[in-house]
Amino acid sequence: MRLDGTESSAICSFPDHFIYSGGASHGHEIRKSLENLFRATLRDILYAERKILKALPKMARAAEAEDLKAGFKKHRDETEVHVERLEQVFELLGKRAQGKTCPGIDGILEEGEEIMDEFKGAPALDAGLISAAQAVEHYEITRYGTLKRWAEELGMKDAVTLLDQTLQEEAVTDEALTAIADASANDRAKKAA
Ligand code: FE
Ligand code: FE
Repeated sequence: MRLDGTESSAICSFPDHFIYSGGASHGHEIRKSLENLFRATLRDILYAERKILKALPKMARAAEAEDLKAGFKKHRDETEVHVERLEQVFELLGKRAQGKTCPGIDGILEEGEEIMDEFKGAPALDAGLISAAQAVEHYEITRYGTLKRWAEELGMKDAVTLLDQTLQEEAVTDEALTAIADASANDRAKKAA
């Protein structure tokens, strides 16, 4: 069981040193385990945000409807700030901002690419792009929700504020995507090609 906070940990494959098995006298270990978990999850979402930053311009180019294109572009700019906020949280921890490959977001983005390829030119393209983008937003929402909670537990008030700002933006983006789907994309998807 490692409690030294070495860099090999990944949230996608839980290493055994995250497993806490001590009693009441192990308060320090609990804190250290949560810090390790917090940092591992930060590394996961940093990797994810950097990948999303690259994916959003492609999604904006692929989208047919102007409102959807504009939505993807706006969220690309927000995502740039999400990366900066994560870098600030690493700074608060006194650690280097280093991402860690997460197959979860890679898979979600791959599915988005599949939709772009398979539905290119089809009336259902935008509805498909929205579904792919919402999978991304929901992934981010679960990560930021957890990170914010853990930052609270660790007493990192400034980190809570930063993580909450991003969490709110992801939620607003998710709702905006639903609004576009309801207003136009799903109806267009029902029409014959
Ligand atoms: Fe984000
Ligand atoms: Fe997002």
